[in-house]
Amino acid sequence: MADPTAADRQAVYARDVFRCVRCGGEQLLTVQHRAAVGMGGTKLRPTTTELLTACLICNEAFEGFLQTGALLNGWKVPRWLQEKGKREGMNLVGDVPVYYAVERIWCVLIMGARMHITEQQALATMRDIYGPQYDEWRLAA
Ligand SMILES: [Zn+2]
Repeated sequence: MADPTAADRQAVYARDVFRCVRCGGEQLLTVQHRAAVGMGGTKLRPTTTELLTACLICNEAFEGFLQTGALLNGWKVPRWLQEKGKREGMNLVGDVPVYYAVERIWCVLIMGARMHITEQQALATMRDIYGPQYDEWRLAA
């Protein structure tokens, strides 16, 4: 996947209030891809709904010991959902709500903005998308 443009990076940081989505850190920020970045694949640029602000430490941990938590909170989205979206011509990654841990709010990402939703709405959406697997992640995290 191609790198986001400088303008998109700034839009993502601004939307996320210049804080890491998990720890709220304001240092060492990076724009992370919610979906796995494919090997040598597409030249398409990710949209801002597919990107989040994370510090370098959390960003790395999302691939490691925080993996289940990252899925649970919408910080990461599994590859199969991305593939399914491609087949259906939809941005399913962008449909997954995001938990902003420090602010303790769930949001859906729309264009360059984030819209606050209730935890109940977020859980209902997650269960629509992931089915019973979502509650398995909740138990495992
Ligand atoms: Zn962090």
